[in-house]
Amino acid sequence: MSSPATITARPRISARIAGITPSATLAVDAKVKALKAEGRPVIGFGAGQPDFPTPDHVVEAAAAAVHDRANHGYTAAAGLPELRAAIAAKTLRDTGFEVASTQVLVTNGGKQAVYSAFATLLDPGDEVLLLAPYWTTYPESIKLAGGVPVQVTADESTGYLVDVGQLEAARTDRTKVLLFNSPSNPTGAVYPRERIEAIGRWAHENGIWVITDEIYEHLLYDGAENHSLPVVVPEMADRTLVLNGVAKTYSMTGWRVGWIIGPQDVVKAASSYQTHLCGNVANISQRAALAAVAGPLDVVHQMREAFDARRKRIVSLLSEIPGVDCPTPQGAFYAYPSVKSVLGKEIRGERPADTLELADLILREAEVAVVPGEAFGTPGYFRFSYALAEADLVEGVTRVGNLLSEAR
Ligand code: PLP
Repeated sequence: MSSPATITARPRISARIAGITPSATLAVDAKVKALKAEGRPVIGFGAGQPDFPTPDHVVEAAAAAVHDRANHGYTAAAGLPELRAAIAAKTLRDTGFEVASTQVLVTNGGKQAVYSAFATLLDPGDEVLLLAPYWTTYPESIKLAGGVPVQVTADESTGYLVDVGQLEAARTDRTKVLLFNSPSNPTGAVYPRERIEAIGRWAHENGIWVITDEIYEHLLYDGAENHSLPVVVPEMADRTLVLNGVAKTYSMTGWRVGWIIGPQDVVKAASSYQTHLCGNVANISQRAALAAVAGPLDVVHQMREAFDARRKRIVSLLSEIPGVDCPTPQGAFYAYPSVKSVLGKEIRGERPADTLELADLILREAEVAVVPGEAFGTPGYFRFSYALAEADLVEGVTRVGNLLSEAR
């Protein structure tokens, strides 16, 4: 029998959970909130959420749902049948991908869709090709599911787009999944149709699964288009999971509704996992999501126009700063400039060696919060979210520009 001393000597936190890097974007957001609470005039570019209200008709649907007792008990783990059907219909409308409602699993936000997708597909040691710069949650959810993230990086010289040659070079016998995200968080890059086709064909030839995260599908600029991989390469439909949600399109980040679309067997397995993981997603939120996905897209079009104006503004302001190289993003609401040439130079008596240190200096000296590229697998960059008022955007980038201009 082991003694209490042996037991207490064991780590308090499991290795699996202790190994997680906390979300850097949420950490930046928390710092900004704390400084603001102290009365500091901080401007935060960390937010990963639209700064617009959830549309009225969605809020009203939720309010009505609260008063309907049918929503007060457990419901089907995979999602309300009406919502699954509406998501299938919306997917056909928006991307041309035809699926049955039984191929849809409703999750607690896009985040849980990512986590459950990996938990359902990966066995320990399975490798996932992770395109970098990547969204900060991806590597953690791959690792939590026992998988191994294999980073494939593209930089500003290619507009942050990887090609098939890079994927092939990273492929091994253990490669099971390619994780694809277009429009991208953090770069705002949008893959053109031909590149998606080439990547889809390569995945098909090599028996690789694709998880494609389309959560920014409607936030596109300069005529860029969203092409869903299983539509471009229909042979891949049986080995692709499409992830999506209401958070970004309908400004519904706090409602926590996302989904997975995939082949019947995978969705059935992921639904069975969900019966133990969380049961059903809150019914009030599902009713709100139903009003959103079954409703019009005009709100997102208005939001898109506002984002587009800010996008142009931020890119032009960032490009004027010496040492900053900012490709023009074509989607989402992020700009991802390189600041590599500023690193190692002296600013206010300090020589920041990496973007973690530089972001810290900028927060202290200019009272502006940006997310360092380390959070996205690519040191040397900053992510600026332009989901903030234009006046703050101009003031914030001007402060950063003034500080970085002091670099010697
Ligand atoms: N996928 C990407 C690429 C994201 O940027 C986000 C949120 O930042 C999500 C998924 C998940 O969004 P949510 O969990 O709020 O639905």
